[in-house]
Amino acid sequence: MCELHEPEGISLPARSGLCSKNPHLQARETMPRQTKRDRYARLLDAAREAAGNAYCPYSGYSVGAAVLTLDGHVYTGCNVENATYTLTVHAEVAAATAAIAGGALKRCLAAGRNQGQLIQAVACVCLKTFETWHCALCRQFLCEFGVEMDIVVPREDGTALWKPLKQLLKHPFVPAIVQGCQH
Ligand SMILES: [Zn+2]
Repeated sequence: MCELHEPEGISLPARSGLCSKNPHLQARETMPRQTKRDRYARLLDAAREAAGNAYCPYSGYSVGAAVLTLDGHVYTGCNVENATYTLTVHAEVAAATAAIAGGALKRCLAAGRNQGQLIQAVACVCLKTFETWHCALCRQFLCEFGVEMDIVVPREDGTALWKPLKQLLKHPFVPAIVQGCQH
């Protein structure tokens, strides 16, 4: 785990009625685009480093992911394949799981937020391709932790390209759907 703090603080998805007096918590909209590009470039670097650790003897498709959490920490993961194929762990899932195992969700909840605000951004890097958006399984897995999060991929020139998850996953299956059926 490493930290990716910026002088102007952490960007957060804007939520009505969830104002924080903490100067390090500010709405995503207030972060200059240039700052976001720089921050995401470093997130891509972390994902690329993780991709170097991938275990992918069957596909040869090395993938790394880096999750930027609500409080500015970065957790990484890589794909881990299995001889059964179906038990393969995707890098994005590994990184998000590492964030939770590292206490990020606990800190998020302690700050008065919910699990849907845990992740600000996820960078995904494949060592062989560029501008490759992650698979639909990972989109569904990640939407549990914030449909507002940005998904970041590298262009061929190494710069960051990003889209909000909600744009990639049009009709996300979110916790509120299940919770709405419990009454
Ligand atoms: Zn995936």
